[in-house]
Amino acid sequence: MVVVVVVAVTDTVPKPPKMPTKPALANLWLAEFSHRGHCCICGNHGTIDTRGKVFTPAGYECGDLVYCICPNGRVMKKHDKDGSWLRQQKLKKN
Ligand SMILES: [Zn+2]
Repeated sequence: MVVVVVVAVTDTVPKPPKMPTKPALANLWLAEFSHRGHCCICGNHGTIDTRGKVFTPAGYECGDLVYCICPNGRVMKKHDKDGSWLRQQKLKKN
């Protein structure tokens, strides 16, 4: 049995898919969590640390150190592509 594979070779490099914009997240932040241009969630720090502070009604501790949904948090998350900075911050607090 002979199998023939045809491969097309072109000079063009396929473009990566466009990253989706998140206008809904920005609109939610503007409408609900900003006050005079400042973030009511993180105080413009860009991160939210609820470790040891947030529990479910059953008592399960569900806090975490995460990036905020505000512009500062989004930019920080974007530049921390592999999450290494956030992991280092989590180790400092423990
Ligand atoms: Zn924030």
